[in-house]
Amino acid sequence: MSELSDNKEYCPFCHVNLRDKPIPEKYRHHYGGATYGSRKIAVYSRDEDRTVKWQCPDCGKEWERE
Ligand SMILES: [Zn+2]
Repeated sequence: MSELSDNKEYCPFCHVNLRDKPIPEKYRHHYGGATYGSRKIAVYSRDEDRTVKWQCPDCGKEWERE
């Protein structure tokens, strides 16, 4: 039930693949059940106390979290 697990992960701007290495099964619970790591950077809002945006590590652009 992870938001990361089965999503294709591409930057909407430069279209780089943001999937990182597969996560070994025994460690997945640390990542909310995700099967792959992600290279995208979480942009955290203190006001909303949650991740509100993602940032691309390659081009540096941000997009809204869905
Ligand atoms: Zn990008």
